[in-house]
Amino acid sequence: MYCYIKDILEKEILTKSDIIKLLRCEGKEKEELFAKSAEIKEKYIGSKVWLRGLIEFSNICGKDCLYCGIRKGNRNIQRYNLSDEEIINVAMFAYKNNYGSIALQSGELEGNNVAVRVEKLIRNIKELSEGKLGITLSVGEQKPGVYKRWFEAGAHRYLLRIETTNESLYAKIHPNDEMHSFGKRLDCLKSLQDIGYQTGTGVMIGLPFQTIDNLADDLLFMKNFDIDMCGMGPYIEHADTPLIHASGSLLPLNQRFDLTLKMIAIIRIMMKDINIVASTALQTIDPTGREKAIKTGANIIMPNITPAKYQSSYKLYDNKPCTEEFAEDCQNDFETKISIANTKVVYGEWGDSSHYDKRVEKT
Ligand code: SF4
Repeated sequence: MYCYIKDILEKEILTKSDIIKLLRCEGKEKEELFAKSAEIKEKYIGSKVWLRGLIEFSNICGKDCLYCGIRKGNRNIQRYNLSDEEIINVAMFAYKNNYGSIALQSGELEGNNVAVRVEKLIRNIKELSEGKLGITLSVGEQKPGVYKRWFEAGAHRYLLRIETTNESLYAKIHPNDEMHSFGKRLDCLKSLQDIGYQTGTGVMIGLPFQTIDNLADDLLFMKNFDIDMCGMGPYIEHADTPLIHASGSLLPLNQRFDLTLKMIAIIRIMMKDINIVASTALQTIDPTGREKAIKTGANIIMPNITPAKYQSSYKLYDNKPCTEEFAEDCQNDFETKISIANTKVVYGEWGDSSHYDKRVEKT
């Protein structure tokens, strides 16, 4: 059996049944899997870890995803919306501290006001940083014309997590209406890729009703879609969400954590040169979770630089870490930990996915 996993790890292309075996492996086999993904990361990415200073600029959302703590229907949180000046100030903090890139993230709102505002913010940040600060957006589903405007304004990466690629599971964790359509999510991802963004997606791991088979399909979807960036994390329940009622069927947190590390390892093996985020949700379960993800195959860290007074109101799930600290404290914290993981945090570089360049060359 031990040799069998080794054989799978030597294959050029993994089948669904290979992936399922890897997701189920334990003990020495799991060590083999992690050693292989670490070897591939070292070969194709090296020891570098790039930064995206995360600015969660608003927790106001027009949608009602059943798992999310900032869903529209949750009346138990304080809503906030940073002023343009506050956002620019935080972006300049990132620029002056040589982060290389920021990620602008918010709840999902559509409409002309949002389109105009975000475009203006992108242009201002680009101008004030003399074009040097890379901008990733994560502001949900929008019309193709809006994505295009933002791309032309200077944003060049977009993260839109699909959360699960199984349509019937998607329907179980979202309201069943036009606003929460699986098809629309797929169309948006395609638009982003067509417009020219470095396109990222990802899934939650350990959702209620989710099977190992579903997770294998998620990995195959990402490979077939030819994504440039991947952001995956364990599902962590939030008390003020409808999905809390399905908590009885969940895997223990340590198993969701373990499964997430395996997903990261397998996607690194399948897509050797993409960018993979070490998610904050991993750190919620294990204080050294992000570092373990980096050792396993991730190469992107997103330190939260949102002003501290707002951070506790942006909880997609319970017990999110780093919500009481100032950005500078978090910075010291991750630098120390990343040095323990024996990798190099790179400052002043965008840290783009080399997969993207190759993908664009092919088309
Ligand atoms: S997951 Fe995103 S779109 Fe859904 S409710 Fe939360 S913030 Fe809004």
